[in-house]
Amino acid sequence: MSSADRDNVPAWAAHELGKVIVSPADVHRRVLELGAEITQDYRDHPPLLVGVLKGALTFMSDLMRAIELPLDVDFMAVSSYGAATKSSGVVRIVKDLDIDLTNRHVLVVEDIVDSGLTLNYLRKYLGSRKPLSLEVCALLFKEGEQRVEQTIRYTGFRIAPEFVVGYGLDVNERYRNLDGIYEFVGKP
Ligand code: 5GP
Repeated sequence: MSSADRDNVPAWAAHELGKVIVSPADVHRRVLELGAEITQDYRDHPPLLVGVLKGALTFMSDLMRAIELPLDVDFMAVSSYGAATKSSGVVRIVKDLDIDLTNRHVLVVEDIVDSGLTLNYLRKYLGSRKPLSLEVCALLFKEGEQRVEQTIRYTGFRIAPEFVVGYGLDVNERYRNLDGIYEFVGKP
């Protein structure tokens, strides 16, 4: 790894972080682009954004303010990994939605798609609640890792299959407050 890669790693977390995967500036720029695209696509039918906690919390917070429409917001919490760094494929709903999806244009806001198992489960679960449309906006998409074919309407960045933290993504609840996205090289 070059020293330039390390220069931009926050000092307080540097002992467990590897390289910068997406810099804070690039995240910010891309979120604004996604917001503009969604604004355009949904101008005639403002969406209900469904954020998937906890990983999507930062992305959701920035993305919703980049969309210039009278949208609604709700959250679900799912647990798929526990403390490990590989998907078990078992998804547990920890918090369900408050808003009825019937006749709504639903846009699911996800932090990262890895195996695709979580999203696959969410699509079936939310689709059964009769939304008018159901699309996905994922900040990160891990290349080559999908065990389930996915159609994702909006993708922030395609990244290599490494375990990453920051901008909402954690390892054992830590590092969600990093402004950019970094490779995690500590012990999970
Ligand atoms: P999937 O079901 O697609 O394998 O995994 C999706 C979920 O696993 C994500 O919503 C996220 O919570 C977690 N996840 C997958 N890859 C990573 C990663 O690189 N870093 C972190 N922190 N979480 C991940």
